[in-house]
Amino acid sequence: MDTSRRIAGFKYDCLLFDMDDTLYPLSTGLNLACRKNIEEYMLKHLHMEESEVPKICVDLYREYGTTMAGLKAFGHEFDNDEFHAYVHGRLPYKKLKPDPVLRNLLFSMPQRKIVFTNADQAHAHQVLNRLGLKECFDSIICFETLNPPNYTNVPTDNLALTWSNSFNKDCNQVENRCFNSKTQILCKPSVEAIEVAIQIANLDPRKTLFFDDSARNIASGKAAGLNTVIVGRSDLVPGADYALSSIHNIKEALPEIWEVEGELQQMIQSPAVETMVLA
Ligand SMILES: [Mg+2]
Repeated sequence: MDTSRRIAGFKYDCLLFDMDDTLYPLSTGLNLACRKNIEEYMLKHLHMEESEVPKICVDLYREYGTTMAGLKAFGHEFDNDEFHAYVHGRLPYKKLKPDPVLRNLLFSMPQRKIVFTNADQAHAHQVLNRLGLKECFDSIICFETLNPPNYTNVPTDNLALTWSNSFNKDCNQVENRCFNSKTQILCKPSVEAIEVAIQIANLDPRKTLFFDDSARNIASGKAAGLNTVIVGRSDLVPGADYALSSIHNIKEALPEIWEVEGELQQMIQSPAVETMVLA
């Protein structure tokens, strides 16, 4: 899709959306169910002490962005796909209903639209399909995008962006970011993860709006040079340029997404020209 001509004159040329608790509300309960599944995995598969699991789960999430990233950093060895299948496989996805209002809003935005989630591809597809939003996005940056098993054989569909997209373009930069995927997970809120996403999607951060419900992700997004929107609350957090209590309020809060800057300027200048003629 050639968006370069379509978006000429707009303030932003790309919209980057977190998915969970951003494109649908926290009140669906998916987040809580996911945490319960993670705790169960820690108990049954990593044989951690039952009384300590809830606190460790939250502490690692806070420190590393995802509990999984924290577990890996602490040396726990497990298969990434097996972990994702366990924690997402039994989520109450039926609580997610199609959202035609958001679908129409997204389709009406002229910019390139990308989902940027820490979750795995299977979960991203489940959620976007249930919400009826999958076709609204040009691509998805997900767990597998930032943490591929290797650089050349990433099982992704047409929507998902991969390291190999940018690998050919800028081999040295990507190689320099190489790390041990057995012990380290690249994910938000790491500024590096956001910078890699910017590089893979070939974004201009100054012309990109980043939507996320996490204050830490917003702070990192700002540090990476993005324009930022905190979602799910009406007050600003450090690093946020805008606050949206719900993604559905986007048109009222951010009308510039739809406005052509040149057209606005013309409208402002027009009365002055008329005055001059009449005088
Ligand atoms: Mg989120």
